[in-house]
Amino acid sequence: MSDWLTPGLTHLWLPYTQMQTAPAPLPVVATQGVRIRLADGRELIDGISSWWTACHGYNHPHIRAAIERQLASLPHVMFAGLVHEPAARLAQRLAALLPGDLERVFFTESGSVAVEVALKMAIQYWRNKGQAEKQRIVYFRHGYHGDTFATMALCDPEEGMHSLFAGAMPDQIMAELPSDETMRRAFELLLETHGERLAAVIIEPLVQGAGGMQMHDAATLAFIAAACARHKLLLIADEIMTGFGRTGRMFACEEADELTSTIPDIVCLSKALTGGTLPLAATVARRHVFEAFLADDPAAALMHGPTYMANALACAAANASLDLFESEPRLAQVAAIEAQLAAELGPCRDLAGVAEVRVKGAIGAVELAGRIELDALRRRFAELGVWVRPFGKVVYLMPPFVIAAEDLTTLTAAVRQVLTERARQL
Ligand SMILES: *Cc1c(COP(=O)(O)O)cnc(C)c1O
Repeated sequence: MSDWLTPGLTHLWLPYTQMQTAPAPLPVVATQGVRIRLADGRELIDGISSWWTACHGYNHPHIRAAIERQLASLPHVMFAGLVHEPAARLAQRLAALLPGDLERVFFTESGSVAVEVALKMAIQYWRNKGQAEKQRIVYFRHGYHGDTFATMALCDPEEGMHSLFAGAMPDQIMAELPSDETMRRAFELLLETHGERLAAVIIEPLVQGAGGMQMHDAATLAFIAAACARHKLLLIADEIMTGFGRTGRMFACEEADELTSTIPDIVCLSKALTGGTLPLAATVARRHVFEAFLADDPAAALMHGPTYMANALACAAANASLDLFESEPRLAQVAAIEAQLAAELGPCRDLAGVAEVRVKGAIGAVELAGRIELDALRRRFAELGVWVRPFGKVVYLMPPFVIAAEDLTTLTAAVRQVLTERARQL
């Protein structure tokens, strides 16, 4: 079938995969629109946008042309002492799109590293202001911020990797999302208790993704932002998953800003930044954060610099992706997807073994109860011609925004069918 598959597989190490027992991965030969073509000629409709990146679908001609043009003139050049137009334009455009004075952009190549940079910014911000004791970070249950050591320490302690690497990670402070009055008092108390040792609070605004598609409202987010201001803490909004329209606004933190005019101090972006084509991430700081690094002292500078920082191909792809947000009705498409997900996944609530159905923007999640055979569910979805990959307790859809209504119906019908089959066996 594919002469590269068997010999290659004996040398590949796959992510989050028990290599002894996991079913063989599917060989992919092409992607187009919302479809993934396999080596045997089958096509799968992608329900999860390649880990939430491919918001315009695959092989969008506008992004491809931008990358090809960039490839011919300047694919990459080191970013220390040198700058280039794709990065300069992109920084300017991100600053214009983000709320308030979020205006200084530091480029990296992955989401985890963007969060690491945000943590460095937060800790060094206080150090530069003469408060070097402010070093610890508050994170939330069900949160996910990456797989590197500093970011693992900010992921949900049970769903994340805390037990595997206990003792090897920094010890940070977990909070519950303050969604009611009692929890709000507890949150305030926590911030007071740790007081002068805290540097920042980090949150995935409105939707906690990899920790299980948990959702909270804008009032909760606004409360957290206000609490950070009261306790003199920086607020880091990890919009790596929520950014670029996924929750219905360009950025999820806009919803809290509309309620109470609160803007995070630092925002992390990645995933859909290049429309799912090339790896790129950005950590964007407000003016007062950037200004804390300005001094007649080299030691006050931000000490970070990835080799492939601000890769020109990736920046060109991201600029082309932003063009598409301007020229095509992406947020209207997200609103239509939201309505369709609510209507077509809603009936899953009545199935045995379903705990809850949650929808926000172009995210639809069905949380399961009882025994969950992830490999069997995943295999069944592929048999039905859809690429849906449940994890933990959730079966979820996060389709490309360009998906046609019929294709989305194929996805939601597959979810209902697979969960109906499962309900019969419970
Ligand atoms: C995916 C993700 C990350 C990590 O990004 P990588 O590019 O995989 O390192 C961090 N935060 C959130 C919210 C994410 O969804």
